[in-house]
Amino acid sequence: MEFIPVNEPLLSGNEKKYLNECIDTGWISSEGPFVNEFEKKFAAYCGRKYGVAVCNGTAALEAAMISLDLKKDDEVIMPSFTIISCASAIIRAGGTPVLTDSDPHTWNMNPDEVRKKITSRTKAIMAVHIYGLPVDMDPVLKIADEYGLKVIEDAAELIGQTYKGKMCGSFGNVSTFSFYPNKHITTGEGGMILTDDAVTAEKCRSLRNLCFKPGKRFVHDELGYNFRMTNLQAALGVAQFEQIDNFMEKKKYIGRRYTEELKEIDCIQIPLEETDYSRNIYWVYGILLKKEAGMNSEEIMKILADRKIGTRPFFYPMHKQPVFKKAGLFNNEEYPVSDYLGDYGFYIPSGLGVTDEQINRVSEQLKEILK
Ligand SMILES: *Cc1c(COP(=O)(O)O)cnc(C)c1O
Repeated sequence: MEFIPVNEPLLSGNEKKYLNECIDTGWISSEGPFVNEFEKKFAAYCGRKYGVAVCNGTAALEAAMISLDLKKDDEVIMPSFTIISCASAIIRAGGTPVLTDSDPHTWNMNPDEVRKKITSRTKAIMAVHIYGLPVDMDPVLKIADEYGLKVIEDAAELIGQTYKGKMCGSFGNVSTFSFYPNKHITTGEGGMILTDDAVTAEKCRSLRNLCFKPGKRFVHDELGYNFRMTNLQAALGVAQFEQIDNFMEKKKYIGRRYTEELKEIDCIQIPLEETDYSRNIYWVYGILLKKEAGMNSEEIMKILADRKIGTRPFFYPMHKQPVFKKAGLFNNEEYPVSDYLGDYGFYIPSGLGVTDEQINRVSEQLKEILK
């Protein structure tokens, strides 16, 4: 029996053709024409004015945060249940991350909890869409409006999703994306910043490219980074982007199939099919073990690995990260929903390359283990 990987990308469109074009023309660096084309197409798709392509999603978050000009002790509210890139971007931009707990049904940041964390030092809110459903954005935007806060939207996991009919990645001051191979479209490694504000876009462009001074190269008024995306990556991005509608359909199909198979298992919580603002697009198919299952995610993932099925644990919450404990952050703070998600959640093979046969095998094994 062959091992079923947790993710396999689909590279069956014009990827090879466009990569060959890069090699035939010699345009392989960030100066090549695919970078601009990818930025324009992706920004238009999400309904934004400006796109700035970068080398990965973590870099996108970092440049976006720095573009907000945080001062020391400025606070940014974010979910505890997310990837470390969100917290590290805030810290490296000079701010302080302030955590909130998640909603137990959607696994996303709970806007009521955001409101409780507002102080006189709060400068921004970072909304991170998790797994398949977006953050409930209206209350978040309302809080931001009331207190004059900036909003950063990390839409890495929800390329192509909508909130009340509006594209994810079009909310707030600045949005960020990742094109890692498990994301809806991939460039191998890659990321993007989107914004409607010309000044923010220009700042991010400058930060991406070492803050070279326009007209006076090798003179620098600020410290930047080399966060540039290459033409090779962007060539993949343009080819992948052409297939986005099919990819979205496939993700929804995978989610529907797993839900049909797994809804009969009582001791698990499967992803919500919809909320009043969105239908799930199943970036990954997450499963949360209930207490009655009698095991945690680590235990079931080991059993599944023995049965040749790849899985990943859910995020490990930020308030429990050793690196932040050492720095004296989040001491004695409690986020019970995030804790539970971190201990009892995992996701099953749900990449674009997954086959019907694989979905059936994963479902059968889960039923056998959990019924
Ligand atoms: C994948 C991901 C990132 C990081 O992207 P990289 O390209 O791996 O750096 C950031 N935020 C979220 C929510 C992600 O899922």
